[in-house]
Amino acid sequence: MTFQMLFPGDMMREMQEIVPGLYLSGAAPAESLAYLQEIGITHIIQVTDIKTPHFPGDFMYKLICVPDMEETNLIKHFPDTFSFISGALAKGGKVLVHCAAGASRSVTVVCAYLMKTQNMSAADALLHIQALRPIAGPNDGFMTQLNLYGDIEYDVNVNRTAYRRFLIASMAAQREMYGYIEDMTLAADPLNAGARPSAAGPSSTSSIHPNPSTIFASASQRPLKCKKCRRALVARVSVVTHTPGQGQSSFEYRKRDATLNVTEAIHTDISKINPVASTVCQSYFIEPVEWIQELHGLEGKISCPKCDSKLGTFNWSGEQCSCGTWVTPAFMMHKGKVDG
Ligand SMILES: [Zn+2]
Ligand SMILES: [Zn+2]
Repeated sequence: MTFQMLFPGDMMREMQEIVPGLYLSGAAPAESLAYLQEIGITHIIQVTDIKTPHFPGDFMYKLICVPDMEETNLIKHFPDTFSFISGALAKGGKVLVHCAAGASRSVTVVCAYLMKTQNMSAADALLHIQALRPIAGPNDGFMTQLNLYGDIEYDVNVNRTAYRRFLIASMAAQREMYGYIEDMTLAADPLNAGARPSAAGPSSTSSIHPNPSTIFASASQRPLKCKKCRRALVARVSVVTHTPGQGQSSFEYRKRDATLNVTEAIHTDISKINPVASTVCQSYFIEPVEWIQELHGLEGKISCPKCDSKLGTFNWSGEQCSCGTWVTPAFMMHKGKVDG
């Protein structure tokens, strides 16, 4: 008697084959050695809160221990899960990706694999899975990450502006929820750009070192400098633009809607700069940069790392620009203090 015959039609107790050799399920099938062996599973990706595998001697495991929350960063694992799945399938293996319910975390990992291999949008990949497993439904934060994965052409890399902005928005959300930021991703000090990441500083800090030949390629790409001492402060790619004049009415909504902030952060891009901004907006908003002091605090001053003159302020919860638009998080330098 097969496992399916014991539990006919019970979605929670079955695994579904999404593409040949790639299976998806909740926790129950992953706890049945007989069922796993009957299907011929060789590799298992376990995306749960549990840190230990059920049958470590019988299958190759990849463990991703994360909660099913909108704030969870799953996209950073996509390169690993992709190689694990494609490596196993190339060797003729069969892979099970499972979480607790087989609805959100595991579906997100399988969606990402489908998107990259079949060049599908996140929505199409999900529809394909739902046809086989109707309860499939990643949380909103994971859907945002899948769409972002498509936008950055499956290249999960801090040198991709959209991905960097997503990380910064996630840092702001972490700051708000937990009062601290676990992994800080900071824009490189332009004076260090292109240098090897320094051994100094906390190990949890990763810096962005964009290719300096890209950043300083033309006059329009020159960094913002301190008006007083001319010290280079931040690369152009790390200047965050916004739509001017969103006004007071949108303020409360924007401030409280984290998802909207993430979306805003992903889609703001230097290429979309509005000419009105140069007259109405009195501040440059930038990504958090290595040289800014006391970044773990909720808010603080931004002072020139060379001459110490006060350039502006930062606030992880956001600030309102002179044009009326709220930017979250806000790292703002007054235009009167900076040469753009
Ligand atoms: Zn503005
Ligand atoms: Zn200065």
